Amino acid sequence: MTEVISDIVILGGGMVGMAIANQLIEHDKHLSIAVIDKEPEIGRHSSGRNSGVLHAGIYYPPKTLKANVCVQGAKRLRAWCESEGLPVLACGKVIVPQTAELDGQLELLLERGRANGAEVKLIDEEKFLELVPDGHTASSRALWSPSTCVVKPKLVLKRLEQRLKERGVRFIVGAQLDAVNPQARQLRVSQLGDTTTTFTYGFLFNAAGLQADRVARAFGLGECCTLLPFKGIYWQLHPRAPFNFRTNLYPVPDLHVPFLGVHVTPSPDGTVSLGPTAIPALGRENYRGFEGIEPLMAIQFMGDLASQWWRNAGGFRRYAREQALHGIKPLFLKAAQALVPGLRSEHLIPSQKVGIRAQLYDRRAGELVQDFRLEHGHSSTHVLNAISPAFTASFALADLILDQSSLFSN
Ligand SMILES: Cc1cc2nc3c(=O)[nH]c(=O)nc-3n(C[C@H](O)[C@H](O)[C@H](O)COP(=O)(O)OP(=O)(O)OC[C@H]3O[C@@H](n4cnc5c(N)ncnc54)[C@H](O)[C@@H]3O)c2cc1C
Repeated sequence: MTEVISDIVILGGGMVGMAIANQLIEHDKHLSIAVIDKEPEIGRHSSGRNSGVLHAGIYYPPKTLKANVCVQGAKRLRAWCESEGLPVLACGKVIVPQTAELDGQLELLLERGRANGAEVKLIDEEKFLELVPDGHTASSRALWSPSTCVVKPKLVLKRLEQRLKERGVRFIVGAQLDAVNPQARQLRVSQLGDTTTTFTYGFLFNAAGLQADRVARAFGLGECCTLLPFKGIYWQLHPRAPFNFRTNLYPVPDLHVPFLGVHVTPSPDGTVSLGPTAIPALGRENYRGFEGIEPLMAIQFMGDLASQWWRNAGGFRRYAREQALHGIKPLFLKAAQALVPGLRSEHLIPSQKVGIRAQLYDRRAGELVQDFRLEHGHSSTHVLNAISPAFTASFALADLILDQSSLFSN
């Protein structure tokens, strides 16, 4: 048994956990910091499996945590990637209404974007077709966000990990969390080969993504909530498909649910992905087939979905009608064709990429939580709903987490 004393322990080495480590060092380079992750390498979950879009900050109601950190976070992450020589595709993004009734939502998004400090403007159909010659808008206009860009998430994670190690952060990977004692500020982890380590910490951050609610419960927190896993499957555009996508193409989203809808995203490596879906998964890590299925969780999840459907909470029936079945290729294709009418089944090839959103569900309120949520315990802070745009916002979100944790208030 090894015993380690660390000023800071961070559970979870995804983008949020590593951004917290980065911002802690910016405050005080003498802190000893340990990042503990259950996987043998970082990037195995959401941060390594997302669209890589640095969102401009358009969707979020002003004054929410998302609105407060997205615009600055995107600028900072983009500047950091550029300073590191990592690929950044500065391609912008167009948001189009797929039906004429959704046209009015463009005004709302424009207002929100401007209130949040994002650069955004309405464009007419001619300009839209100039940007997306193969696209379709159901009204005569669209919304243009010139500052949206796309990065390669795995490269970003690898480089940040490397930089943190160079600055003295210790990474403990493949580590199983065995026990916690919040009052004593201790936790015990075991690694392959039966190495057991007890950490005594000054402060702990729980950035465990899809498992963050379970970790929080071990600390006696997060009782009101559970994470519901929504799977994001992608398709890739066939390299010989007769389209030329130079910018992101997004639908006007259903603002009642925290999913942005099937979209088209060009990558810095020249490939183009379509997706992701937002379909219920049968386990938090149920990426493919029967892998990672959690039968009890799945049954409870179906119960939660049925109750959402019954009460039509947040217009949930629209989600169920329009998005829940996108795992079926013809239905996915139909959603994509609303944006790109010329798209055919043979233009889509399966993509290796699949991610699962760590979506928080508040059982007491009976609704999906839209904003980031932090809970604070004895010398610990728990990040409970690190859904999109937590990757984009990570550096600014980490500053907000540190502020709310009052770690440097004296
Ligand atoms: C399909 C999809 C597309 C998305 N697209 C975008 C996008 O384009 N732009 C954007 O900004 N955001 C996007 N997001 C959201 C974004 O990926 C997440 O908000 C972000 O990656 C969350 O980071 P995280 O560090 O909290 O979680 P994660 O990356 O999941 O990291 C959590 C880490 O905790 C570890 N862990 C879990 N349990 C334990 C434990 N008990 N002990 C130790 N370690 C543990 C895991 O192994 C993991 O490494 C997308 C998400 C999905 C799923």
